[in-house]
Amino acid sequence: MKAFQLLFVAYFAFSLLGCNRPPEASSGGNTATESSVAEDHQHPQTLQEGFDELTKLHAAIKSAFESGDPELAHEELHEVTHLLDEGFSEIIDQHATLDAEAKTSLTTLLSELFDQFSKLDDHVHDGGGVTFSEVDQVITAKLDELKKLIP
Ligand SMILES: [Zn+2]
Repeated sequence: MKAFQLLFVAYFAFSLLGCNRPPEASSGGNTATESSVAEDHQHPQTLQEGFDELTKLHAAIKSAFESGDPELAHEELHEVTHLLDEGFSEIIDQHATLDAEAKTSLTTLLSELFDQFSKLDDHVHDGGGVTFSEVDQVITAKLDELKKLIP
């Protein structure tokens, strides 16, 4: 249990690397627009964009696992969990037309997807316990459900 918690913390810290969003506040007095997010890491703005990103990452992860070298998709695994955790919650929080029920369904689904992708990430870290095709079946089904929930 302890080891698991440690792993989780380590993993979480990893997933936050690469997310160097510029500070909210001004870094000078000039006309700072928000277009300074020209980094390798950009959060999606809409549910559809988030979903497209998710689909892309899922495809990369799938092909890495199926090629027998899941390590190839390690970065994508961290990106996908970051997207599911932080990226989507920003969109959902700020969404103008989703009602509370829809938000709850989405959040539940995203956290289920997070759990599945985390299993794959754990597998890359310690080589243990999961069969990709089983996890992937669940992921594919959840992605289908998610797609239906996007307005
Ligand atoms: Zn990892």
